[in-house]
Amino acid sequence: MPTPVSHAAVGFAIAAWTQQRPPTRRVCLVAAGCAVLPDIDFFGWPVAHRGLTHSLAFAIAAAAAATFIFFRGPQWSRQRARVAVALGVAALSHGFLDALSTYSYGVGFFVPFSQQRYRFPWTPLGNPTGSLAGQLVQEALVVFLPAVLLAWLAFRAPARSA
Ligand SMILES: [Zn+2]
Repeated sequence: MPTPVSHAAVGFAIAAWTQQRPPTRRVCLVAAGCAVLPDIDFFGWPVAHRGLTHSLAFAIAAAAAATFIFFRGPQWSRQRARVAVALGVAALSHGFLDALSTYSYGVGFFVPFSQQRYRFPWTPLGNPTGSLAGQLVQEALVVFLPAVLLAWLAFRAPARSA
């Protein structure tokens, strides 16, 4: 599986690019959290790993809950819909990244409506024969560093109105 750090970096970058310039740190941080959240099923969640918490339904619910909790105030009213979408995409990015890897089970995108597990035909993440160190290096090159670079660019990009 991609590590939580990589998931967080991708969620952060997505939020950084889906907002007006310059991006709001709070949205980026909450999006990073949404992108990591699906792996709570790793810690004794009473469902199979990469099932419900990795589904579209969960991503939508998590984005709605996070928007409600963290972006309540009137200062967010104009941006709230956009923030909610960014958080939803960040949460979904988790399943997409997992589906690009060869570890564990496929991803249950449509749980609870379908128990079918999916894996993309192209799985650049995870080489079962490689060492753990090799896999971490690969993940850093394919996921983490590009995400950090994109997030950095979003913060550097010239101001653009929403
Ligand atoms: Zn996962």
